[in-house]
Amino acid sequence: MIYKDHTLKIYNSLSNKKETFTPIEEGYIGMYVCGPTVYSNVHLGNVRTFMSFDMIYRYLQHLGYKVRYVRNITDVGHLVDDLDEGEDKIAKKARLEKLEPMEVVQRYTLDFHDILNKFNLLPPSIEPTATGHIIEQIGVIQKIIDNGYAYVSNGSVYFDVAKYNEDYEYGELSHRKLEDMASNSRQLDGQSDKRNEQDFAMWKRADPEHLMRWPSPWSDGFPGWHTECTTMSSKYLGKKFDIHGGGMDLKFPHHECEIAQGKACTGHAPVNYWLHANLLTLNGKKMAKSSGNNILPGEILSGKSPLLSKAYSAPVTRFLMMQTHYRSIMDFSDEAMLAAEKGYNRLMKSLETLPKIETGKVSTLDIAEWRAKCYAAMNDDFNTPILISHLFEGVGFINLLKDKSASLTAADLDLFAKLFSDFVYDVLGLGVAFEIYDSRTEKLKGTINLLIEMRDLARANRNYSLSDQIRDRLAMLDILLKDGENGTTFDY
Ligand code: AMP
Ligand code: ZN
Repeated sequence: MIYKDHTLKIYNSLSNKKETFTPIEEGYIGMYVCGPTVYSNVHLGNVRTFMSFDMIYRYLQHLGYKVRYVRNITDVGHLVDDLDEGEDKIAKKARLEKLEPMEVVQRYTLDFHDILNKFNLLPPSIEPTATGHIIEQIGVIQKIIDNGYAYVSNGSVYFDVAKYNEDYEYGELSHRKLEDMASNSRQLDGQSDKRNEQDFAMWKRADPEHLMRWPSPWSDGFPGWHTECTTMSSKYLGKKFDIHGGGMDLKFPHHECEIAQGKACTGHAPVNYWLHANLLTLNGKKMAKSSGNNILPGEILSGKSPLLSKAYSAPVTRFLMMQTHYRSIMDFSDEAMLAAEKGYNRLMKSLETLPKIETGKVSTLDIAEWRAKCYAAMNDDFNTPILISHLFEGVGFINLLKDKSASLTAADLDLFAKLFSDFVYDVLGLGVAFEIYDSRTEKLKGTINLLIEMRDLARANRNYSLSDQIRDRLAMLDILLKDGENGTTFDY
């Protein structure tokens, strides 16, 4: 197994340090990542987070680990203000669009899968839904009540943070102290069923008009957002597992509450390594569904956005994301996409020529050293930007080999090609499916350009009925021709 030859360091948000990764059971890894709340189309920021964990999943598998990767679908319980008041996000969308909540869930779950597929993300091993685990969630809540860390109030159940903090440390992940949180919080207004502001809902009693409701020992109601992840992660990965991930914005309160619930249930920490992917920003501000400051993945592929000068393919977008370390903030822009497209094409063109290289009698390039550098980058907390810089060093090797300024023995050339393919396709996920997509796009563009030339010819011959026909038929296919000073361009 390759992993035996590697020391993988992972940045653990619990300690705020890079730590040597050791799984609980040798050779096996349990990994849980918080999935989407399926009440609207995923935006590119969401995609970035899931792509970061896809790369991590791919690399762990590449190292030879057997990974059980669980990523949930939040289809109930995530309230509009992320705290314990306000409407359920899915119920609100259902009310506004006059749909059944499960119609909303179905529509956006399909969109989520479609987009992740287009961007070549591997499906997780298990994708459980919150509504499919109500009975298990009730069991977890009951256990926490029995252990003395939760209380029932007016049909709702709240986690008793102050009581928990007497025995454990609330705030250990977000590195906050409960005393500071308490002094900064607003006073409860007497309407709330909570004892303290920091307490969080595990079960909410539903108002009579609330559509999403299930019977429970406490009331007809629905589970709180944090409860589903504690429940489903422990059900499928055990009461202690290796890796838990999500976007940086989930660290508090969501993941802090998960740790508290886990310890309140079992007496020990539920997770060994907490990983957080950083945010994608647009115009320097967090990309978010609720604020409207976002770009949809479909807009990138179609180019139909005022933020873009043209359409970009999914692999170029993926390449752009991989050029930034998953823990760094990344700002999205058209310029960055243009640069990524150049880089991606250079890498791929170079790879295409690799099979044509002839072997030599001796190796004048040190492939073993290059291999070690590539692995060192990935073993250093999945440093994909450094890996990519080494891959471009590999492009330099290919150029030298093509010019016959360097040579490799058959064995070294095989190793070099295998490593390139492993890193580019398997680990970074710039996969084969993309190539098909790309060549089709290129063919379509070539065909449109041919039609533009024929239209120009028709116009030069004053055959306006033909030139108009070409323009109108393309418009019917949503391909719009734009005549400008420098000729005709198109948008599709
Ligand atoms: P949500 O559907 O809002 O629960 O978010 C799904 C995932 O996307 C979570 O892990 C979030 O942390 C992550 N996420 C939300 N906004 C962004 C963003 N702007 N950049 C990166 N990840 C994000
Ligand atoms: Zn979660």
